Amino acid sequence: MFRFAPSPTGDMHIGNLKVAILNYILAKQNDEKFIIRIEDTDKERNIEGKDREILEILDKFDIKYDNVIYQSHNLKFHQQFASQLLMERKAFACFCSEEELERKREEAKKRKIAYRYDGTCEKLSDAEVLNNEKPFVVRIKKPTHPISFKDEIKGEFTFEPDDIDSFVILRRDKTPTYNFACAIDDMLNDISFVIRGEDHISNTPKQILIRNYIGYDKEIKYAHLPIILNKEGKKMSKRDKASSVKWLLEEGFLPEAITNYLILLGNKTPKEIFTLKEAIEWFDIKNLSKSSAKFDLDKLRFLNREHIKMLDSLNLAKRIGYHDKDIGDLAKLYTEEASTLKEIKEKISKIFSSKTPPLEFKENFDKIVESIKKAPHFEEFDDFKKYITETTSLKGKNLFKPLRIALTGEEHGPNLSDIYAHIKNYLPEIVK
Ligand code: GLU
Repeated sequence: MFRFAPSPTGDMHIGNLKVAILNYILAKQNDEKFIIRIEDTDKERNIEGKDREILEILDKFDIKYDNVIYQSHNLKFHQQFASQLLMERKAFACFCSEEELERKREEAKKRKIAYRYDGTCEKLSDAEVLNNEKPFVVRIKKPTHPISFKDEIKGEFTFEPDDIDSFVILRRDKTPTYNFACAIDDMLNDISFVIRGEDHISNTPKQILIRNYIGYDKEIKYAHLPIILNKEGKKMSKRDKASSVKWLLEEGFLPEAITNYLILLGNKTPKEIFTLKEAIEWFDIKNLSKSSAKFDLDKLRFLNREHIKMLDSLNLAKRIGYHDKDIGDLAKLYTEEASTLKEIKEKISKIFSSKTPPLEFKENFDKIVESIKKAPHFEEFDDFKKYITETTSLKGKNLFKPLRIALTGEEHGPNLSDIYAHIKNYLPEIVK
């Protein structure tokens, strides 16, 4: 079983989408199930509606899943396993106050050493615990030996007991922390392979420790994806608009092109332009680079143009709000100068809007408009052009510039004869 485990705490980041896509590809390749687990146990950070938004995005990207699980529904299991660990003395109640812990953290900082939990409450006897009325968190005992795991992309990692530390598994309100809920749920969901961002590498030994203590011995494979960098070589954050999947979609990037780009980024692929279906045939996690790659919007714009050209024309027309194959064909003519659906839509809506020519073309423009209004239907551009030339006595630049403005609202653009082929049935709506 594979899983994608987003937290409903903000707009989906492209790094997260990449995680979802790769999990989906590997689940398909291995003929295993794929679930979505909404990690909603941190109530303070949850944002209403973000879970639905995540599922809608997955739909748009054609990422199919077998089930959706809300982590908060597993609370009783998280608490049961925490009780088990407490009884087996693999975890302990910790009454240290936030202020006390903060003071110790500050002290460690002053002494320039890494802060670690000092074990104060680990030594409490049962009687001392039972007689203490203060609220407590539950901490897991740090391991006695180092914990190692092999990452499918980055290789071998080993963490010392002190790096893992006696960390909190249940908060004071008895809700699980991320590491605990995640480790338990990966076990309950029978996950075989975890693919996630590299910011979770230091969490992995903690999650392995939890399952070791519980006595779960199925080995889970791990692959941690390098973070995606911005132009400056820094981690792409909310300040980089292109880090938000929602923003990219609003800008008119096709899900197909974004998918292509995210699979291509930091990877060795047999080709540059491909569909998700094709990638399932040849994707190999071993070809992913260990190090981070920079996000390049121009490259995405290029791929977007290519995917726009690959779309069926009626489908393309629908994506920009029309229902006619001709508009899709017309849209494709604009992929030379426009890269996104938004930019193409602007071009098409200029064609259907009322036009105001620059003063220098005004007189000839008016003549041409009058002539088009009276013209019969012509199948061929040459016949149409001949009619306009004859009825207006205009030719050369005097004809073509204002004619182009009358038909497209712009002074430059694709060949008029190519455009004409797709707008000839709309002339009364275009020239009003
Ligand atoms: N909710 C975590 C995140 O969004 C999931 C990490 C994981 O896949 O375990 O980063």
